[in-house]
Amino acid sequence: MSFDAEAKMQFLFALRSKGVTDSKVLSVMERVDRGDFIQGYFTDRAYEDMPLPIACGQTISQPSVVALMTQALQVGPRDKVLEVGTGSGYQAAVLALLARRVYTVDRHRRLVKAATKVFDKMELTNITAFTADGSFGLPDQAPFDRIIVTAAAEDPPGPLLAQLKIGGIMVVPVGQSDAVQSLIRVTRHEDGFDYDELRPVRFVPLVEGLGKD
Ligand code: SAH
Repeated sequence: MSFDAEAKMQFLFALRSKGVTDSKVLSVMERVDRGDFIQGYFTDRAYEDMPLPIACGQTISQPSVVALMTQALQVGPRDKVLEVGTGSGYQAAVLALLARRVYTVDRHRRLVKAATKVFDKMELTNITAFTADGSFGLPDQAPFDRIIVTAAAEDPPGPLLAQLKIGGIMVVPVGQSDAVQSLIRVTRHEDGFDYDELRPVRFVPLVEGLGKD
């Protein structure tokens, strides 16, 4: 299947019916072909609103979740964004069309390599992908206007809170790895942090240290 007019229409319909209303977000979801981020057996299902397996036992998130997280992040064209959990690279590509600069990190070198290839093919020159344990953030590039975590932590990691600018927003799934988690939006103010609980979600866990491959 290809991301033709018919597939796009159904894809956008599914996003709207799940509560994606931001026209900028819908427009970038239409521009990024999810099929580019999935290899092998599941390529046919790229435009269905479901998570799918990728290498290293990880998953590419469900498109409506990618869109809702992007919407909650309120990304502007001058923003410097950090994503923790590159995975396939799909979420990073969506962010790159809205932000000035995107840094994305994954603990699996193999995923970072594959995602970088897709970014090059799409000529997305404003994304830099690193292999790193993202729970520590990226101190060299901090602070960030926006931070998105696409793996579930028990609590929002302290170093990420510290690397968020005043006025910055972080979206992070929080909870035990195999139970239902909550998507949280953290807003940093002069004198502290505000926490909003957005919706139940299910992500793979945020794991310490680097992966074997
Ligand atoms: N955003 C991805 C989906 C992410 S799946 C996409 O659009 O396809 C979650 C990813 O988080 C996995 O690839 C996993 O390897 C990564 N991950 C888990 N713990 C991590 C950590 N401590 N640091 C960096 N990446 C981590």
